[in-house]
Amino acid sequence: MEKKTAKRASGADHPEKTERKAGWQSFVDETERSLLAQKAEIVANLIAGNNDFKEVIEGMDSKDLADAASDDIDRRMIEAIGAQELKRLKLIDSALARIKQGKYGLCAKCGVRIPQERMEAIPYALMCVGCKSQEERRGP
Ligand SMILES: [Zn+2]
Repeated sequence: MEKKTAKRASGADHPEKTERKAGWQSFVDETERSLLAQKAEIVANLIAGNNDFKEVIEGMDSKDLADAASDDIDRRMIEAIGAQELKRLKLIDSALARIKQGKYGLCAKCGVRIPQERMEAIPYALMCVGCKSQEERRGP
């Protein structure tokens, strides 16, 4: 029987091309966790400052809390929190949705991959720098 001889000895001069991808994936995983935590925190603040909302949320476990904002509680949320927090919540939501769809980090406009640096700075960025500044420049 022929024994397979390992030819791995000279693998050192091959830089791992998948390394970067793996780094991106773990970054996305981390971001998802942190976004869920932020979302839960906003919801927790709501509960602390609003008894009506507390009644709505009561009975849910912490896992459901993360999903609470996107469901029928949405309207009550708007009443309970300011538009600013709601906007943040929506941004977090859409980022989470994009992570689930595997579209996270891709520009919503041109589809280009947004550099990880930018995503680290703005975890819910939807557009690449180019499209974003184009959007902002577009005046009346
Ligand atoms: Zn773009």
